[in-house]
Amino acid sequence: MILEVNDIHVYYGESYILQGVSLVVGAEEIVCLLGRNGAGKTTTMRSIVGYNPPRRGTVRYCGKRIDGRPVYENVRSGIGYVPEDRRIFPDLSVQENLEVAALLPREGREPWTVERLFDTFPLLARLRHRKGGNLSGGEQQMLAIARALAGNPNLLLLDEPCEGLAPVIVESLDETIRALKREMPILLTEQNARFALSLSDRGYVIDKGRVFFQGSAEELLENQEVQQRYLAV
Ligand code: ATP
Repeated sequence: MILEVNDIHVYYGESYILQGVSLVVGAEEIVCLLGRNGAGKTTTMRSIVGYNPPRRGTVRYCGKRIDGRPVYENVRSGIGYVPEDRRIFPDLSVQENLEVAALLPREGREPWTVERLFDTFPLLARLRHRKGGNLSGGEQQMLAIARALAGNPNLLLLDEPCEGLAPVIVESLDETIRALKREMPILLTEQNARFALSLSDRGYVIDKGRVFFQGSAEELLENQEVQQRYLAV
C-alpha cells in the first residue's frame, strides 16, 4: 500500500471532526472518498498532507509513519496535493506557477518538466503567459493539477476537483485524471459520486467524520441505500 490511514481522530480546536477514519490506497489504484458537504473529506486530505495532524491514529506513506510530519516534508517525499480552493498564485503567470512548484525528479519516473506539463495540458501551453488570477475556474483547476505534478509526486491527492465547474469542463477533467491514472495512484474526494466512481477502482463513503461504507466502484454504484442516505444524488 502506498497510503494507509488508520483510525485517525482529528479536531479543529475543540470541535471533534474526524472520529476514526481509516482508508488505504494501493500502488496502482485510484480511490475515492465520497460524502456530502461537511462530511469530513477536506479534513481527511488536510490531515494526510500534514495541515491538521491527527490527535490519535496513524498515517503511513510507503510504509513509513508521516503523521505529525510537516507539510513540506510530505510534499518533498512525493505527496502531491491539489487543494479544493486551488491556491493558484494570482500574480504569477501560468508558467511561473509551474516553475515555482518544481521539485527534483524521482528515481524510476519520467520527470514532469514544464515542457512535459505543457504537452499534457495543451490548454495551459496556450495560456502560459496569462496571470493565474485571470484564468477561469476550469483553467485554474488544470493549473492546480499541473502544479502538483511539477513536484514529481508518487501519490496524488485531489480534493473535489469538479467543484464549481461547468459540465463540459468536468468532461475534460475526467480525461485528464484518466490519463494520470496510468502514472500514479490517486486519492480523490468528491460530492459528485457518479463522476468519481466512473474513474475509481474503489471508494469509501464518509459522513459526520466516520467511514460508513467501503467497496468497489461497482458495489457503490449499485448500492441505492448508501447513495440515498450518504450521498447527494
Ligand atoms: P465540503 O464539501 O464542504 O468541503 P467536506 O466533506 O470536505 O465538505 P470538511 O471541510 O472536512 O468537509 O468539514 C468537516 C466538518 O469540519 C464540517 O462540519 C465543518 O464545518 C468543520 N470545519 C471545517 N473546517 C473547520 C475549521 N477551520 N474550524 C472548525 N470547523 C471546521
